[in-house]
Amino acid sequence: MAYRLGEVILSRDTIARRVKELAEEIANDYGKDKSIVVVGILTGAAFFLTDIVRELPEDIDVRVDFMSVASYGDNTESSGVVRIFHDLKSSIEGKHVIVVEDIVDSGLTLSHLIGLLEGRHPESLKVCVLLDKYERRKTEVKVDYCGFRIPDKFVVGYGLDYAGKWRHLKDIKYVVAE
Ligand code: 5GP
Repeated sequence: MAYRLGEVILSRDTIARRVKELAEEIANDYGKDKSIVVVGILTGAAFFLTDIVRELPEDIDVRVDFMSVASYGDNTESSGVVRIFHDLKSSIEGKHVIVVEDIVDSGLTLSHLIGLLEGRHPESLKVCVLLDKYERRKTEVKVDYCGFRIPDKFVVGYGLDYAGKWRHLKDIKYVVAE
């Protein structure tokens, strides 16, 4: 089946406004005295992460690290198996960690990942997601910062892909089958 881009669900302006608000929340919660490690889950969350950290005040002590894990292949169902392709560069032991993910759907990817990172003994661990497809949850995941709750439809853009395509879109759009 062929797919094409559908309507805009979240415009670039709407996303930018919410990203600012989330950064303010994070800055208020952590303050200037705590060092934060922001862990982005490649590839999708890289776009959201770079926008959010640049909205943090200059005097916040923030480091950025990335991990790459397996989630979706070229289809639209999660396997629930998390495989690490690329691990963090630095230890998170004793650190305040914020995991940044593009979207939480069944919750399987994030809950596996949280378990794995908690096993590395961070001082604290919070989760920040841009999009939450709450209707599809198969396992409970604690989301501390959420951009938008969205309906159960496949979306692309602003880092989110379909089979590697459409990550570069500035808006988030639905994908429709032709
Ligand atoms: P979960 O394990 O929560 O079911 O899946 C999370 C992963 O599924 C996300 O990191 C993302 O890669 C992918 N995913 C879930 N829904 C969508 C969607 O609507 N669009 C895109 N592009 N990816 C999605």
